[in-house]
Amino acid sequence: MTLPIEEGQYFVSFNKLKEAIETWSIDDHFTFSVVKKDVKRVEYRCQARSMGCPWRVFVSKGMDRELLVKRISTIHTCIAAPVSAQEVANTQNWLQRIVPQHLFVSKATKPTEIVENIHKYYGEKVNYETARVAKAALIADRLEHQRDHLHKISSYIQLLHQHNQN
Ligand SMILES: [Zn+2]
Repeated sequence: MTLPIEEGQYFVSFNKLKEAIETWSIDDHFTFSVVKKDVKRVEYRCQARSMGCPWRVFVSKGMDRELLVKRISTIHTCIAAPVSAQEVANTQNWLQRIVPQHLFVSKATKPTEIVENIHKYYGEKVNYETARVAKAALIADRLEHQRDHLHKISSYIQLLHQHNQN
């Protein structure tokens, strides 16, 4: 089994690292928390660390300013407890990144379809309200992109007109 994150691996940003940690937590159904973070380092631990679960990922910036995975402990001892990644699955950050990979979200999309899709692919339960907010945000985001695109096309046409007049 290859691990989603390995010792010695580099990350270009804290955001990319967080995405990888989120994906891992969804895949393995556990919840993580950040126990230490500053501009140079971050440590992720399993939420069940108080029960002695050793899972952790420690990353810090090296001389080349890249983020390097320095220490990692990939085994969970917390699986006896009811673990899930429900917390991550219910963040807008994760949902808005993942939902478009499985579903084209339009006005006609029902929030329950989002809930069902996430359950089908990830086995996690997303709240209806959270799914509804994600749906609205995804539609707004796409409209923004379209507007931006149209704006570029109309400036281009204007430029062509000017060019032809000269
Ligand atoms: Zn654990």
